[in-house]
Amino acid sequence: MVRVAIIGAGPSGITAIAAFQELVSKGLECPEVVVYERQGEIGGLWNYNWRTGTDVDGFGCHASMYKHLWSNGPKECLEFPDYSFEQHYGEATCSYPPRLALRDYIMGYAKHSQVNHDWIRFNTYVKNVVFDEESKKFTITAVDNSEQEQQESSDEFDHVIVSTGHFSVPVMPEFAGLHDYAGLVMHSHDFRAAESYKDQTVVVVGKSYSAEDLASQLYKYGAKKVIITHRNKDDSGNWQPTGFHWSEGIEERALMASMDGHNITFGDGSTEKVDAVILCTGYKHWFPFLDKAIKLTCKNTMWLPELNMSIQSKQNPNLYFLSMQDQFYTYNMFAAMAYYARDLIMGKLTTDQPMTDVDGKPWADKDFITLYNNMKTDADNYGLQGKYTECLMKATGYGTQAICPKKFVEGINKTFDDWEELKHHNIMDYRDHAHASIITGTMSPKPTKTNNWLNNKWEDDIQFYKNMHKHQ
Ligand code: FAD
Ligand code: NAP
Repeated sequence: MVRVAIIGAGPSGITAIAAFQELVSKGLECPEVVVYERQGEIGGLWNYNWRTGTDVDGFGCHASMYKHLWSNGPKECLEFPDYSFEQHYGEATCSYPPRLALRDYIMGYAKHSQVNHDWIRFNTYVKNVVFDEESKKFTITAVDNSEQEQQESSDEFDHVIVSTGHFSVPVMPEFAGLHDYAGLVMHSHDFRAAESYKDQTVVVVGKSYSAEDLASQLYKYGAKKVIITHRNKDDSGNWQPTGFHWSEGIEERALMASMDGHNITFGDGSTEKVDAVILCTGYKHWFPFLDKAIKLTCKNTMWLPELNMSIQSKQNPNLYFLSMQDQFYTYNMFAAMAYYARDLIMGKLTTDQPMTDVDGKPWADKDFITLYNNMKTDADNYGLQGKYTECLMKATGYGTQAICPKKFVEGINKTFDDWEELKHHNIMDYRDHAHASIITGTMSPKPTKTNNWLNNKWEDDIQFYKNMHKHQ
């Protein structure tokens, strides 16, 4: 029997299990599937973990989530076509769920898709994957940490799907003076709770999602001052701010240049006494378990030219990577990718065969690369991932019983347009707005004033989320 290994049971791995489970549910031939997951449960990054540094299993901590994180994009843009939020919660809910509510939705999707827990080897860390050219098999060596004594074992597979995520191993650049800086230095990977920085002056390095969200969180939970320092430049090479309208108490400055004790001097020559520096400098793709011959080496880009159709290894066609691109689209794209990987494994599709969009236009790998090479704006980025998702859905049939893929991605792209506009209007309150579900057409409610993202510090569990638009 054909054997398939899935490494990682976060949102991407869950969609891969669901794709194979669909074969079982339809009474079709399904390979033997073994899932390796180093945590004790499914959910990936959405499982909050207070630990930093080394995890209980002795390997580097996977978790990068903080306690009071809320979705930074509308839920309507990540909704699974075959499982709406309305179906999950039984009623319309607000557009920007807190972490626990989003996690609950992912768990609901897993249950709805009958994700088979018997396939999953929990608490099991994949240490090594090698491919044998003669037998054409992969050997996976993994450590089971569920007993006090670690158990190492090896198994052979015909296909391997890697869904281990790529937001866990931090990029930690050197900055002049950091070595001698007297305050706390850390990466956003280790950030767990903003309340620890109450009344402090904190520097946040970077200008992307972690930088903007940590700055907002620090302000929300009472930091005295937050300085976002970054290297954003205009076309003439001059430093320029991001253009977001921050609350008083948050400001942007040119990238820090030197440090002396607690004092930091910025690129504009200004100096500030600072309690902590948080590097929001992103993450690197990290596959220590893959043998050199099959290792994926890539950057965090919206399309991965290193893979066929952003999925299949160029070194080995039986090795697949899910969701390794940088992301505007998330869960619905992850699922469509998982179904595509499944159909490659089942021999129903090949990556050298172009996909087609709903209008019948062919989309080969090179066409996506041309689109990728010409991207200039955020709209180009989500346009690319939308077209990709549309083609994947059409090729695999994933979600097409619920909605036409073209209509689906057009709706999502329009919602991203609205979200961008709201964020640029006021980055401190965009989460208080509402969008309509593309699947059900239902307009989401808005939270009440007391439950606005900025006003409400401590309530963010599932029950709160279900009621945050209701006056008590
Ligand atoms: P992960 O969630 O990282 O899951 C990977 C799984 O693989 C984990 O369960 C891990 O334990 C397992 N694993 C890793 N290595 C091994 C190994 N060697 N052996 C066995 N198992 C292994 N996306 C959104 O859509 N909305 C958001 O609001 C949002 N917020 C985010 C906030 C932060 C701080 C970060 C870092 C990311 C955020 N994301 C968000 C993006 C996030 O990456 C995705 O939502 C999603 O978690 C990706 O799923 P994944 O399964 O690909 O990876
Ligand atoms: P990212 O998007 O890769 O951004 C990395 C940032 O680091 C960029 O601004 C980059 O600047 C900067 N950087 C890297 N090296 C630098 C250097 N040497 N000097 C100065 N700046 C440097 O990573 P991220 O912001 O951590 O986001 C990762 C993922 O987490 C995203 O998917 C995001 O959506 C998610 N996230 C979500 C939330 C939420 O609210 N739900 C919160 C946090 C993160 P340049 O652009 O100049 O290279």
